Amino acid sequence: MQSIQLTSIKGIGPRRAELLGKLGLASFYDLLCFAPRDYKDYSRCESVCDCAHGQDVAICVHIDGEPKLARVRKGLSVVSAQAADDTGKLQLVWYNQPYRKQQLHKDMTLYACGRVDLTRGRKIINPVLSLALPGILPVYPLVQGVRQSMLRDAVRNGLAAFGEQIEETLPAALRQKYDVAERAYALRNLHFPSDMQALQKAKRRLAFEDMLTFRLMIDSLKRRRVQNGGVAFVPADAEAFGARFPFSFTAAQKRILGEIAADMRADRPMNRLIQGDVGSGKTVLALYAMATAVENGYQAVLMAPTEILAVQHFCAVSRLFGDGACLLRGGMKKQEREEALAAIASGRARAIVGTHALLQSGVVFDKPGVVIADEQHRFGVRQRALLGNCGTPDVLIMSATPIPRTLALLLYGDLDVSVLDALPPGRTPVKTSLVPQEKREAMYDFLQAQVDAGRQAYVVCPLVEPSETLEDVCSAKELYMWLKKRLRARVSLLHGQMKNEEKEAASAAFRDGGIDVLVSTTVIEVGVDVPNATIMIIENADRFGLAQLHQLRGRVGRGTAVSYCFLLAKNLSDAARERLETLIKSNDGIVIAQKDLAMRGPGELLGKRQHGLSAFSALALANDMQVLKAAENAAMDIQTDDALRAQCGAVIERALLAVEEAEKQIAFN
Ligand code: ADP
Ligand code: MG
Repeated sequence: MQSIQLTSIKGIGPRRAELLGKLGLASFYDLLCFAPRDYKDYSRCESVCDCAHGQDVAICVHIDGEPKLARVRKGLSVVSAQAADDTGKLQLVWYNQPYRKQQLHKDMTLYACGRVDLTRGRKIINPVLSLALPGILPVYPLVQGVRQSMLRDAVRNGLAAFGEQIEETLPAALRQKYDVAERAYALRNLHFPSDMQALQKAKRRLAFEDMLTFRLMIDSLKRRRVQNGGVAFVPADAEAFGARFPFSFTAAQKRILGEIAADMRADRPMNRLIQGDVGSGKTVLALYAMATAVENGYQAVLMAPTEILAVQHFCAVSRLFGDGACLLRGGMKKQEREEALAAIASGRARAIVGTHALLQSGVVFDKPGVVIADEQHRFGVRQRALLGNCGTPDVLIMSATPIPRTLALLLYGDLDVSVLDALPPGRTPVKTSLVPQEKREAMYDFLQAQVDAGRQAYVVCPLVEPSETLEDVCSAKELYMWLKKRLRARVSLLHGQMKNEEKEAASAAFRDGGIDVLVSTTVIEVGVDVPNATIMIIENADRFGLAQLHQLRGRVGRGTAVSYCFLLAKNLSDAARERLETLIKSNDGIVIAQKDLAMRGPGELLGKRQHGLSAFSALALANDMQVLKAAENAAMDIQTDDALRAQCGAVIERALLAVEEAEKQIAFN
């Protein structure tokens, strides 16, 4: 199955295979595992007269006249055809698909599928045509040069030719016990579901298998971790450490310092998750673990999800460790990078801070004692496994996304969890409000007054550049230009497409008070710490998830002054309104996360961006806790039942392969 080439599929030649390669697809099996991002339901035939504007429908139409091709200007051609059913007329229009003229003829009867547009007459733009009612169609993520129809045909033809060869990986007994569908059924229905219920069953089966594999992988890693043993460190002196900060630690911080000290003193490796709301002061805990490793003659590694956060941590780490501090990240100049790598490999670098760049091959550590991942929900499942896999080093994971304990255990296996449940003293909760469009000017006046009082502000937009397709969505560049004129303030811009140096200059200037208003994208989402900032304005707030909004809001309210978070949004859907209301009512990350989980399911909360262990990205598919729990139980069954274990060869092997792959990818020696 794995060896079936894309080019063996009808309609896929070398050129198309190469295009599909851009989507990361190399074989028919990859294609099978390529989950649609959405579906279009064309399983019912609608009547022309019933169609509402914007509705996505399948209509059985008769072509009333020969189609016309017009070349409007260079690079723009339009084919249009008059069509109708018994209830009314409608026009079919295609842009830049001149071949449609040859395809269509007067008096043909066929199904036209697409979104109905009633703005000028009644039409469907770029409809999909088909002789039979298409049913439910998959919608795949695309790259340039790959059309939806090409992927659909490839999967359909591939299934027709090779579908019989799909092998079952789970024994019938297990499938029955946990009520999961057969694999072949699941893979067919993932792409072309016979109905929505079949799709749910398909997703459930695939998520179950992935989760099961993942659990087995984690168990295997855990066994190795315990076998390998860890370093019994002498913990750094907590008082001397505390004396290096201008504040005294909260009771919660002290308690967790104690837990870290106990973990690090033990001769089995630490594997601890620290959950603490944004601004609760997790960084000092990381620094303490680093100090312990370094004092014992080991290296300490701190990983951050963004460049900005890595640089910020590097500043703090440099203050504590002086010359022993080292920064590694993407986009470094060759020589700079080589120097850093050499320092890391030789052990000259004691306290190492970096981004994902730390997980690349070529990074060889001398003697890693502790590895810390900050805001780890931005790291994928695999990266987390990589960390857990390094045998000897202690591992500390810090997160402001308070995932429920059960989910955390399912995901990370045998983590110990500490909850940092108190904020440093003197903080006042951020005042959050939804600002109606007509109050926008008043909001800017308020912003001006705060700036005049010496405060700083963030303004966050979903986009960097204005977009033609997302007309109502704010772009950082536009708003920046506009605010520069509107405000008497030093305004600056920060977004992910800027060069490293530019990004740093902007964040440093903001940190040092040289800038009053920072117009930014979500690059500032995690970790950034500027206590003098008291205003957070979020444009198109409905476009962000709850956890993300809470993170963004967490950038303010870090000092003693009262802080404000203003949410702007147009045309709120009910779900979006509910999200924003939750945020307005609560400042508590745990309450917010629970609400988020209830509204979206665990898959979305954790999954989307994480390319997990397999091509399915199980977490994104699994949208109920039930599947995760079922997989957890199944893993236990396999662990304890030898007969069952013998029948689960394929799944176990996949888990072990994943472990090996994880081991290959990192060179902690
Ligand atoms: P987070 O948990 O979001 O990573 P940080 O570690 O960035 O939070 O801490 C937020 C801010 O609070 C920082 O400016 C930090 O110096 C400060 N801080 C941390 N602990 C305390 C404390 N015990 N008392 C006062 N301020 C503290
Ligand atoms: Mg932090």
